[in-house]
Amino acid sequence: IFCPTGAISIRHNREAVWEALADPDTRVIAQVAPAVRVAVGGAFGLPKGKSVMGKIVNVLHRMGFDEVYDTAFSADLTIVEESAEFLDRLKNGGKLPLLTSCCPAWVKFVGEQFPDYRENVSTCRSPQGMMSAVTKEYFRNPENSQGKKTVMVSFMPCTAKKMEAKRPNSFTNGEQDTDYVITTTEFIDMIRMTGIDFAELEPESSDIPFGFGSGGGVIFGVTGGVTEAVIRHLVPGHDKATLESIAECGVRGDDEDGLIREFSVPYGGTELNICVVSGLANARKVMEQVQSGEKNYHLIEVMACRRGCIMGGGQPRLAGDRTKAARKEGIYRADNVAVIKKCDENPMVMSLYEGFLKGKEHELLHNHEFCSS
Ligand code: SF4
Repeated sequence: IFCPTGAISIRHNREAVWEALADPDTRVIAQVAPAVRVAVGGAFGLPKGKSVMGKIVNVLHRMGFDEVYDTAFSADLTIVEESAEFLDRLKNGGKLPLLTSCCPAWVKFVGEQFPDYRENVSTCRSPQGMMSAVTKEYFRNPENSQGKKTVMVSFMPCTAKKMEAKRPNSFTNGEQDTDYVITTTEFIDMIRMTGIDFAELEPESSDIPFGFGSGGGVIFGVTGGVTEAVIRHLVPGHDKATLESIAECGVRGDDEDGLIREFSVPYGGTELNICVVSGLANARKVMEQVQSGEKNYHLIEVMACRRGCIMGGGQPRLAGDRTKAARKEGIYRADNVAVIKKCDENPMVMSLYEGFLKGKEHELLHNHEFCSS
């Protein structure tokens, strides 16, 4: 059934998740995107924009989720893979500019509006896609699954992620990696249905082995976060001064919405020209300039929603300027307090590469062909 408002699929997803949670033979796993944690608290009387990831983990455990993972973890994987792909293209004359691939609305837009640039889109799966593919693979091992079926539920700020989860390239071995996508507003409704006093919950930590992301993974929630995390990965050093100089290189912008930000970063004797874009109308402008040869970039990050995922279509609506600013601050504050700032310093990411992911990186972390619908 297709419902143009999305209402039917929303109801279907929630009911299916409750059913999975009630099935003792099913292991139900949650992943929580960075932008969700700064938008839930406001609905329960907590300060707007405050990161409430610990309370989210607690409420998901109480609902019956067996494991709660952090999409910031798979954002770290995305950065490792996307940086490697970028450097490979740079050194070996591959298609540039590299276009980021983590926003499904943008990927769809490129496929339909700028088909000549399909090969410029990074082959990396989105953090949602990587997390689900890796988790499903981990629980395919009978030692880990212990005879239970695995259902993967993704908590996202985004309605387009529902469409991404059903794309042909979001399947591994014929199995859909992300079973259900629940938006932040649906999640808030689910919490209300439980009657749990969310504001009073004690924070809990996410589960091992995919529950820990670096600060670089968390800032994916705002426009420019992907690029900033890539630069952190490429530039040596992780001292305060280095991180501050990266934050001030232009990637965060100095205007309210940061709609189109252009800046350059020196790397290995080359000035990398980078463009960070919010909103598809602005993306069109930038792509037309690239097409005509007026602009020349090495890397373009586009987030379809203005200010990025913190203002996604699945977030609580009617967010005024103060709420928008508070969510953005909440994301950067979560990064500020993160002990680990760079993806390659996340010990869980490194042990994954050295462990069961070895030899499966291409299969689980990349799209094998461009697909936008
Ligand atoms: Fe979804 Fe908007 Fe984020 Fe793109 S920018 S992934 S459409 S919430």
